[in-house]
Amino acid sequence: MDPKIVSYECDKWLPKEPSVLITFDDGYKDNIEYAVPILEQFGVKAMFFVITNNMESHSEDCNNSDASHLFMNWRDLVEIENAGHVLGAHTLSHPKMHEISMQTSQWQMEESIKKVKEHCSNPENPIHFAYPYGFIPQQALDFPKGCLAYGTVKAPPNPWNEVPNNIRRTYVPTGQMNIWSAMAKSWREQWFELQ
Ligand SMILES: [Zn+2]
Repeated sequence: MDPKIVSYECDKWLPKEPSVLITFDDGYKDNIEYAVPILEQFGVKAMFFVITNNMESHSEDCNNSDASHLFMNWRDLVEIENAGHVLGAHTLSHPKMHEISMQTSQWQMEESIKKVKEHCSNPENPIHFAYPYGFIPQQALDFPKGCLAYGTVKAPPNPWNEVPNNIRRTYVPTGQMNIWSAMAKSWREQWFELQ
């Protein structure tokens, strides 16, 4: 990928004020059942990274199977996209990418992005990518144009527009809502330190 293209596209989207991006990994059914209505209520758009093999196994309605309720299906994903959220791929089968070959890592990334693209309603939209567990391959993957790749807290704390292929994310701990405002305050301070 041409690094100039990446930096141009990132610069175009740089926010002018402290901003957060909310992301969901793995494509669990609770994303559409619980998270999307709450996001809607607050007028917030988010990004959803799905493990595409799980989507395929549970694409049909099988109300008698518990597994069918665990992950979203492709129709759910289209509904999410039509509501203005952004779609992403999270590999075909959620491997630890530092433990598999470069060739397999590249295939897992490319094929999962292709699957999401095939099912989404607007093939022009770039499909983004998140590394399972935040483990990145030994060498850099060759991402499609316009694709940003997301890590976890394992990623170094660099500005996302400078390292668009391993963007640091942090967890919002469940069951500890009392610490969320302190976390937001610290992110805000980091924003101004970087300016
Ligand atoms: Zn995951």
